[in-house]
Amino acid sequence: MTQDKKVTGHGIKQVIARMHHPARNILLIEDDADLREALAEQLKAAGGFDVAEAANGADGLSLAGDSSPGLILLDVGLPDMDGRDLCRLMRKQGVTAPVIMLTGHDRDADIIRGLDVGANDYITKPFRLPVLLARIQAQLRAHERSEDAVFPLGPYTFKPAARTLTDAADRKIRLTEKENGILKFLHRRRDGVVGRAVLLHEIWGYKADVTTHTLETHIYRLRQKIEPDPSNARLLVTETGGYRLNA
Ligand code: CA
Repeated sequence: MTQDKKVTGHGIKQVIARMHHPARNILLIEDDADLREALAEQLKAAGGFDVAEAANGADGLSLAGDSSPGLILLDVGLPDMDGRDLCRLMRKQGVTAPVIMLTGHDRDADIIRGLDVGANDYITKPFRLPVLLARIQAQLRAHERSEDAVFPLGPYTFKPAARTLTDAADRKIRLTEKENGILKFLHRRRDGVVGRAVLLHEIWGYKADVTTHTLETHIYRLRQKIEPDPSNARLLVTETGGYRLNA
């Protein structure tokens, strides 16, 4: 009995540790199967990362949206598209995770340096694992710092990186990833009206199967969490065609 309890407690601790470190997930987009599999194994073993793998650009793009990676390793030469174009595309779709490009030649690196593809760093193949791990850690730390911001939001303090709202009595409201995304985006445009289509596009990307009903459901749940009187919203206000945040 005691032992069971211990095991359960340890398990929960691990789950919580994971929740607080979403940046432990790496998305590896690389078509060279030998390199991809070896690298994934090494990142798991030596870096303690969870690794999602994609062998082409299309799979990489959909995983970048669905799996919310903490960091993306992106090969420059993919069978279905140029990795640099894929990087641009991911940024357009709102992927904010750091991207490290894996380049075949110094020439590719020059092109990444010269163009604004939205990559954070690059490493030229062949590379040594400790060098890659150091680059990964540096990018994760920099990203964490940039996400460390805290904003006042109505009666709350909004911390997007922790996905929390804290009130004056220090009570925490935890937000889902989508709720956090909605508040983040509305906050950026605070006191301006954001159309439903814009919000859908920003939070869910280009997926065709998401309708305004999905958005309305999330807004409804969010109001239940943050509005003192959810039926009479004062913070997250409905306007003609969209929503506005009174922050
Ligand atoms: Ca390649």
